[in-house]
Amino acid sequence: MAKIIDGKLISSQIKDELKKEVSALKADGKNVTLAVIQVGNDPASTVYVGNKKKACAYIGIESQAYELPDTTSEEELLQLINRLNQDPHVNGILVQLPLPGQIHEANVIQAISPDKDVDGFHPVSVGRLCIGEKGFVSCTPAGIIQLLKRSEIEIAGKECVVIGRSNIVGKPMSMLLLRENGTVTITHSKTKDLKAVAKRADILIVAIGKPKMIDHEYVKDGAVVIDVGIHRNDDGKLCGDVDYEDVFPLCSAITPVPGGVGPMTIAMLMNNCVEAVR
Ligand code: NAD
Repeated sequence: MAKIIDGKLISSQIKDELKKEVSALKADGKNVTLAVIQVGNDPASTVYVGNKKKACAYIGIESQAYELPDTTSEEELLQLINRLNQDPHVNGILVQLPLPGQIHEANVIQAISPDKDVDGFHPVSVGRLCIGEKGFVSCTPAGIIQLLKRSEIEIAGKECVVIGRSNIVGKPMSMLLLRENGTVTITHSKTKDLKAVAKRADILIVAIGKPKMIDHEYVKDGAVVIDVGIHRNDDGKLCGDVDYEDVFPLCSAITPVPGGVGPMTIAMLMNNCVEAVR
């Protein structure tokens, strides 16, 4: 019988731990402040930004909201980031992606000071992760490591297969599993015989962006399956990249969608904000 890894519960434990830490920092005269920049009014981005502000309020992190029109030029956005980089009261800077077409995401990511890069997307943060130095780590993969650790799932020495090689999930995930001494295989859309490779995994991390693609043919008996995907199907229900019902009987542990990886991303963003002050 598979253990269901409860991301909602684990993320709320992390937020409660952070709340205590933030109040101790405050007692010490140190405030934690996150600047959140949204350009345009993409409805999904508005929901994400709203959830981040709510989490900040719960933990006691001060959030500064910058809502810019979708006609904002790259130059204007870079000037704002530069100002926030220099502001000693701002500990973390987050620019909600995606950005309107006239703005190059890479330029924006690189403009944020690596010391305030709470999303962990800056090339310096990525480099630090690769060479095992302390630095900000992309929130979703960092959350997955917490899910595994807090569920007492050993990573060291395990066959870990990551499906997907995006900069925000697949690649940093692989680096983190390696840092935890897993034996890591990264797979992607050009991987030959993905089923056979995935079936080697003791820990299978799925971040593809294809609803319910991973069924029992990809999963070894007793594997731990972590589903990063999130999709809304035709009848409005959420599902992941994994066919949950189909693989459930095979797994030793699995994350549900919703309530698995999703809630961990914001919890780890909050952790990165506190880390900026620690
Ligand atoms: P992405 O589109 O940037 O990357 C997808 C990756 O999957 C690519 O590297 C590609 O090579 C690989 N891929 C695509 N088709 C494949 C196939 N048929 N076989 C093998 N590999 C294949 O996506 P992403 O940003 O990494 O996100 C992946 C999923 O995770 C999406 O559903 C996204 O919505 C979700 N997501 C969730 C959270 C969260 O907080 N829960 C955070 C980020 C992303």
